[in-house]
Amino acid sequence: MVEEARVKTEALQIMGVFHVLPRLVVFDLDYTLWPFYCECRSKREMPSLYKDARGILQAFKEKGVDLAIASRSPAADTAKTFLDKLNITNMFVAKEIFSSWTHKTDHFKKIHSRTGVPYSSMLFFDDEDRNIKEVSKMGVTSILVGNGVNLGALRQGLTEFCENVNTSEKNKQRWIKKFSGNSSSSDKNEKK
Ligand SMILES: [Mg+2]
Repeated sequence: MVEEARVKTEALQIMGVFHVLPRLVVFDLDYTLWPFYCECRSKREMPSLYKDARGILQAFKEKGVDLAIASRSPAADTAKTFLDKLNITNMFVAKEIFSSWTHKTDHFKKIHSRTGVPYSSMLFFDDEDRNIKEVSKMGVTSILVGNGVNLGALRQGLTEFCENVNTSEKNKQRWIKKFSGNSSSSDKNEKK
């Protein structure tokens, strides 16, 4: 409990550094929020999260950032039971848990239509490279986690999110300049 509060405080400090935060943060379950595959567990067991996970979820909630789940687990029943047992079910505005041939692009389409949040305002954590590749193509800032979600992954995620926002903002400015009819001055600016 003390450890959880410490992680939450540190996560809030990390979030405080960034001038822009994602509107929605999406988490995979197996080997991202918890260290096992649901289909290898019995519903009767008491699961546990990765050590930093709960503090990070709480910090996002406190900052008013929405949370969601995108999981390809074939054991959705077990996953939902575990979320209940861990007392975190209500923290998520969307829970997409179903197996799929796509690498979570279906999950994200559903999350987008449920929440209305644009892909560019989402941040995603997952432990599988192919999911990261496919989902980032949709415009979601996607972070590969090696040992579950932790403060290091959080810092990396927020940094990359911020960079992506800045890049698309710059591109937007460039387009506006290009089509504002003042092309000679914008050309000069771009060469700087
Ligand atoms: Mg996983």
